[in-house]
Amino acid sequence: MLVSSMETKQAQLEQIAVDIRNKNVCPDLAKQALNLVMGDGNLDSDIVFIGEAPGKKEDETGLPFVGAAGKFLNEMLAAAGLERKDVYITNIVKYRPPNNRDPSPEEKAAFWPYLLEQLEVINPKVVITLGRHSMEYFLPGMKIGEVHGQPKRVEFGDHKIVIMPLFHPAAALYNGSLRQTLIDDFLKVPEVIEQIETLPKQP
Ligand code: URA
Repeated sequence: MLVSSMETKQAQLEQIAVDIRNKNVCPDLAKQALNLVMGDGNLDSDIVFIGEAPGKKEDETGLPFVGAAGKFLNEMLAAAGLERKDVYITNIVKYRPPNNRDPSPEEKAAFWPYLLEQLEVINPKVVITLGRHSMEYFLPGMKIGEVHGQPKRVEFGDHKIVIMPLFHPAAALYNGSLRQTLIDDFLKVPEVIEQIETLPKQP
């Protein structure tokens, strides 16, 4: 029987979730979390968004970016002519840190290999990092204030990928100038995708 790409990818992503549970990644976070928030969206998308970590609403629902920051993200997607079903959305850390504190360097490091596995499965053309926590792993040493909105080509092993660093919607939500900067950067996304379209996708 032929298995569609989506079904295969779904099974591979489920296996990554099983591995995270079996290897007991970040047991202190796991203990107090309601859900492992793996990600959501189109597994064949060319665009993957990576945030920081689930918040309260995300922990309750098991879905990324469904609270206030998610609502703002949805609005920006719409402004850029995109819908959530066109993209895939995940976080670097997949359990909610208590009281929405920042994820620790150890927590980010523990989840990083699983994020890379997710990207291998989805194989997007562009990864859009939301905030410095997911950016710092793809663009080490760079400062978000200096590189936001600028696509960067990076190599991971055999893979070449474009990283577009953006500010985090939660940081920009209530900060007028940052909010406008994020919206302006976001509106560049379709143009970046169009330029990448002309390049062959990596195997
Ligand atoms: N902020 C994030 O970084 N991720 C979410 O899923 C929700 C809010």
